[in-house]
Amino acid sequence: MTTNQIEFERATKVLVGGVNSAVRAFRAVGGTPRFIARAEGAYLWDVEGKRYIDYLGSWGPMIVGQSHPLVVERVREAAGRGLSYGAPNVMESELAERICALFPQVERVRFTSSGTEATMSALRLARGFTKRTKIIKFEGCYHGTADSLLVKAGSGALAFGTPTSAGVPADLAQHTLVAQFNDLESVAALFAQHPDDIACLIVEPIAGNMNLIAPAPGFHAGLRELCTRYGALLIFDEVMTGFRVALGGAQEVIGVTPDISTFGKVIGGGMPVGAIGGPAQIMEMMAPLGPVYQAGTLSGNPLAMAAGLATLELISVAGFYDRLHERCGRLVSGLSEAAAAAGVPFSARHQGGMAGMYFMNQAPGDFAAVQTQDVERFKRFYHRMLDEGVYFPPSAVEAFFFSSAHSNSDITDTIAAARRAFAAVAG
Ligand SMILES: *Cc1c(COP(=O)(O)O)cnc(C)c1O
Repeated sequence: MTTNQIEFERATKVLVGGVNSAVRAFRAVGGTPRFIARAEGAYLWDVEGKRYIDYLGSWGPMIVGQSHPLVVERVREAAGRGLSYGAPNVMESELAERICALFPQVERVRFTSSGTEATMSALRLARGFTKRTKIIKFEGCYHGTADSLLVKAGSGALAFGTPTSAGVPADLAQHTLVAQFNDLESVAALFAQHPDDIACLIVEPIAGNMNLIAPAPGFHAGLRELCTRYGALLIFDEVMTGFRVALGGAQEVIGVTPDISTFGKVIGGGMPVGAIGGPAQIMEMMAPLGPVYQAGTLSGNPLAMAAGLATLELISVAGFYDRLHERCGRLVSGLSEAAAAAGVPFSARHQGGMAGMYFMNQAPGDFAAVQTQDVERFKRFYHRMLDEGVYFPPSAVEAFFFSSAHSNSDITDTIAAARRAFAAVAG
């Protein structure tokens, strides 16, 4: 047995499925998860000392690469001043000020310790503000593990073939209405059916949890219009896309302004952070000013704020996202050329430091299209790439992540490895 196999067997005796987040268990690709011992820059090293080029980026947060010296230094300094106070600290205001400056409609911020808490609280806020009960989400969009949102929820849930989680009461799920991404008609129909009952519509503005699905032109403008017409709040869940596809998130790329935004991942720079942001009028419905309760023992803790602030400082440098988009584009084109050379049906696309690859000829536009990929071939490709020392997210329905730490030779090496892997899986 390899060390990874020994460690996985050990883990499965004490951790459910050997992991603390379902997708890490490699169930969607088979084989043994790698136990990571160390990470630096664009690389991960497993417990066997094998190095991987990291396109997982901890599922999105690591946009400046792993263990960036500035981030690590700031976290160390913060740790020296105490790990958590349970009382206000100045860094919370600093990070909130930066977010307000970047997102014009965000006047108030509330920090949480995860994206899940942010979306869960945003829902409660929207329901409290509108005094309505129902919500609309899209099939294949994932918003964390709050009960109301674990309905047709993409990726991790998808990979297990249980699109709606057991344990979510039908009484609750009935208030979650599900529409199709990129299909305005499906949304209009739900609003027409429940004109006075819909508190909010929540969407991943560029979907990343059913692989990367780009919004069709006019899709979000149409959602904005419907929400305004029916008095429902539009929530952009930018936990993945915020500070990832552009400094101002997907809303900057798309040019549509939501009522509430949720953040996570990059804003914590690898530490546990989530955030809800919006206009004061809506946000001040929340405790201590309003009747919508929200709280968290470790929310806004100094280590998380320090990591977020350092990361924001690094990504605010002029030209950061142009460079990231251009370089990620070079990788994505190289992968497409490598697949074409081997005659493997393949397509790929990217925005900023977020990318998708699809084992099908044309990049998919919705959840149903993603399902038509050649998943068996993806699995073989996946393991070949792991052997080659390239670590992509272990599922055909996940986006992958590029960082400013990836060098030209990392890109070249990845494409060379992909040429060999595509050739191996071509038959
Ligand atoms: C990851 C993710 C979440 C959940 O964030 P956690 O920090 O894992 O709880 C919510 N929404 C989107 C769009 C995500 O990608």
